[in-house]
Amino acid sequence: MQVVAVIGAGFTGILTAAWLLRLPTPQPLRIVLIERLARQAGGVAYGTTCRQHILNVPAGRMSAYTHDPDHFLRWAQLVHPSFKGGSFLPRALYGNYLRDLLEDAVAHAAPGHQLDRITGEVQHIDVPPATGPATIRLSDGRSLEARAVVLAVGNCPPRDPPIADPSFYSRPRYRRDPWHPSIVENLDPAQPIMLIGTGLTMYDIAILLSQAGHAGPIHAISRRGFTPQAHRTSAHAPHGYPRPADIDTWPATALGTFKALRALVRKAAGERVDWREVVTAIRADTPALWQRWDRRSREQFLRHLRAFWETHRHRAAPEAAATIQRLRSSGQLHIHAGRVINIEDTGTAARVTFQPRGAGPVRHIDAQRIINCTGPESDPRLADNPLIRSLVTSGHITADPLALGIQTTPEGLAIDRAGRPVPWLSIVGPFRKGSLWENTAVPELRGETEQLARRLASELAAASG
Ligand SMILES: Cc1cc2nc3c(=O)[nH]c(=O)nc-3n(C[C@H](O)[C@H](O)[C@H](O)COP(=O)(O)OP(=O)(O)OC[C@H]3O[C@@H](n4cnc5c(N)ncnc54)[C@H](O)[C@@H]3O)c2cc1C
Repeated sequence: MQVVAVIGAGFTGILTAAWLLRLPTPQPLRIVLIERLARQAGGVAYGTTCRQHILNVPAGRMSAYTHDPDHFLRWAQLVHPSFKGGSFLPRALYGNYLRDLLEDAVAHAAPGHQLDRITGEVQHIDVPPATGPATIRLSDGRSLEARAVVLAVGNCPPRDPPIADPSFYSRPRYRRDPWHPSIVENLDPAQPIMLIGTGLTMYDIAILLSQAGHAGPIHAISRRGFTPQAHRTSAHAPHGYPRPADIDTWPATALGTFKALRALVRKAAGERVDWREVVTAIRADTPALWQRWDRRSREQFLRHLRAFWETHRHRAAPEAAATIQRLRSSGQLHIHAGRVINIEDTGTAARVTFQPRGAGPVRHIDAQRIINCTGPESDPRLADNPLIRSLVTSGHITADPLALGIQTTPEGLAIDRAGRPVPWLSIVGPFRKGSLWENTAVPELRGETEQLARRLASELAAASG
């Protein structure tokens, strides 16, 4: 039996395991899915138990399988026949879908294939000698050997924002991990909270606070104070706008690409098509556009266009956007545009000092808790994950040149410190952002997990032959 270890049971780990189970190989496979969270629950995104945490993609576009676009919708309609392609459903429900999908893959596995699930945190991987198996070591002392390892560890907590005195970050008033289950526990419901970041993670936390009955002010701050655009409400997943026929000849620069995109949005508006459809129409081409840009262009994009792109591309579900609007209109949620200069613990509160965008004197806000909502960390050197750090130290993984993720070959193999592909170590999911840019949501990740599983199955078949 050949062993494949899949580390992480979020969307990408579950889908990779499900595909491997179904693909026949000459020697049976033992797929070991290892997840550190006791509830093998679909990862950071779909492990939430909050019913107000809503998918930010309509149900009709959330199928886990490229070849079967209505797979999720059909499953959801068994739960409730009123669900439509345009419905924005709870993320917890999607977690149940992933669990069912894995059970189904086990029930229909190729002859001899088996799935073993382990709850535990992988802390270290011993390097295989030549083509031998890798030894995977868990924090509780257990270990196992695997012929191939898939790193599906997904979204790591955000990095600490730079401030004058970072010693604040060791204080209990600060929470680096916005997805920790206790994130809104033990709060005084009347006292202010400060959220750093104004994107979708901030939306999640503000919604959690509101649901928990928090009545005090909620402050949120980011450099520009941009918040995500909202999806439109419609019964069906919106009809697609056609892929632009000339997209392969768009200028190979960030600025040129955005000019072409703006021109297309204007043309679509003339045809009474919403800009959202245009953004969706170029979605499948985003990795190719990104790969055409040189390093300077990518840096320009990250510096000047990223915030604008992300708020238009990663939109909020209508229900989430409405809750945020309500919190803003009632005066409870305040969005600030500015740069955090320092945070200090005064003994009774965390005092945030920030420079408002544009002119004006610095401002101070006192809060009982500071929650970092700046978005997942993808630089492996800064990741709050002992396994990632150990692989960086051993040189088996490296950061890509812009530190957006882990450097990989086009097939998804890790590239080591010496610039060689690591034949036993595949990377899947958000950590491949450096080479693919948009590699974070289900519509992209489903194809990637299928391709990875097919490549692994054929490599294992070749190795056993
Ligand atoms: C809050 C949030 C909401 C999102 N909502 C949507 C959405 O509505 N629609 C959409 O298309 N996309 C959404 N996304 C994008 C999301 O990144 C992908 O859809 C997808 O969930 C990524 O899955 P993943 O398995 O790669 O990562 P993750 O979901 O982060 O899963 C990784 C798993 O690996 C485990 N792990 C990490 N290290 C170890 C270790 N050393 N040992 C053992 N286990 C380990 C973690 O505990 C975790 O369960 C959302 C992302 C976030 C953060």
